[in-house]
Amino acid sequence: MFCRKNQLEKYELVCGLETHIELSTKSKMFCPCKLEFGARPNVNCCPVCTGAPGALPIINQRAIRFAIMMGLALSCRINLFSQMERKNYFYPDLPKSYQISQNENPLCTGGYVVLESGKRIRVNHIHIEEDAGKIKSEDGGIYIDYNRGGTPLIEIVSEPDIRGVRELCEYISFIQTTARYLGISDVRMQEGSLRCDVNVSIRLKESERLGVRVEIKNMNSIAFMAKAVEYEFKRQVGVIESGEKLFQETRRYDDSLNITQSMREKENVSDYLYFPDPDVQDIYIEKSEVEKIEKSMPELPNQKLKRYTKDFGISKLVSEILVKYSNPSKFLDKSSENADQAVIIANWIIGPVFSFLKTESAKENFKIGISCSEINKLASLVIGKKISSSNAKKIIIKSLENNLSLSELIKDYISSSISFDIEKICEEAILNNKKAARDYINGKEKALQPILGTVMAKTKGQANIVAAKDIIVNKLKLITKI
Ligand SMILES: [Zn+2]
Repeated sequence: MFCRKNQLEKYELVCGLETHIELSTKSKMFCPCKLEFGARPNVNCCPVCTGAPGALPIINQRAIRFAIMMGLALSCRINLFSQMERKNYFYPDLPKSYQISQNENPLCTGGYVVLESGKRIRVNHIHIEEDAGKIKSEDGGIYIDYNRGGTPLIEIVSEPDIRGVRELCEYISFIQTTARYLGISDVRMQEGSLRCDVNVSIRLKESERLGVRVEIKNMNSIAFMAKAVEYEFKRQVGVIESGEKLFQETRRYDDSLNITQSMREKENVSDYLYFPDPDVQDIYIEKSEVEKIEKSMPELPNQKLKRYTKDFGISKLVSEILVKYSNPSKFLDKSSENADQAVIIANWIIGPVFSFLKTESAKENFKIGISCSEINKLASLVIGKKISSSNAKKIIIKSLENNLSLSELIKDYISSSISFDIEKICEEAILNNKKAARDYINGKEKALQPILGTVMAKTKGQANIVAAKDIIVNKLKLITKI
């Protein structure tokens, strides 16, 4: 694009993130207006959230609780005193010309996210604030919808510890999954309940000095975020290598062109003239309250990952996919009584069930017509070698796609399946493939294939191939001459 590969290799990418999460409380941050996505424009507004004179904001306690939960999950210090401030700026989606936010005394400070490599990405702080309204361009006009104005948000501000796109994606996925587990937000990037501003700079490898910071906005998926940052890295290297200078600015990502474009020069904190909001009470929290919240916290994704891989023996790959979602892993926990069942059910969830559910939100909601006890029964049948694992998978797909009861399908399958004596069939298969049997006894592993093939043909594919293999191998061990 702008630079050569050997130029790119001289630099490293440095990123810090500001992650905004809309909290899924019932009402707004400072007023009783309802929070609902997709409502008719300007129906959920009142004098408080539209900034009418004399209106007094009252803090939503639940929002504070949710923010504390996130703080604890990211190992932050929860400040027993914090304060709301006015962030002053004008924009049409902000009718009172200031946003109620936190600056000097945020609710949570410190903290970190641990990446898979063991590296820590430090969190500077988490503060609470209210969202602004939304500007829409439609039919040649520009409209403002104030429904979103006043929605409680938390902003998680990281230190510039992220190097490279992989770490960036891992960090944001971690935050997203954690918020989902805590049940504090639906964290959908497409709907804007999770939004990230990425600060991107570059520096020569091994250099200590950070480069000029450019902020990128407007990315509504993790994939786009990765693309935007990759583009921005190349652009910045190109600018520096051509002898020009970078300047501090805010850029927006255009996903149709896959480029970032300049929006405005980046403001400094001092531009906003923060000062404590005289209308909003300071926040004092009892230490015992924080301890109570800590005790009531659900199991978090990294704890669950450890349990799945260590205790259940589910592969790391499968566990990682599963723990991204809260409801599917709850389903797994409820439906499996032991490690063997858990391994089988986990594979069904990320296999046929996830292929059926397709979208991210459908996977998270996990509304399927199969109950925990039904899937448990099917797993037991597979373990007991009554149904082969591939046939079990077919039954699950049939149940999901045709909305049929899994129990009924299992019953039908068992009553219609050909009853056969697997021991006898294996014995006959060995006798019908004497040469292959000899070859196997003489050390040719592959010679087992034609014998197994005969078993599968005789049972019309209904035999459990793993069980048949075991039987054949055991029988061949006892034979010395054939
Ligand atoms: Zn309101």
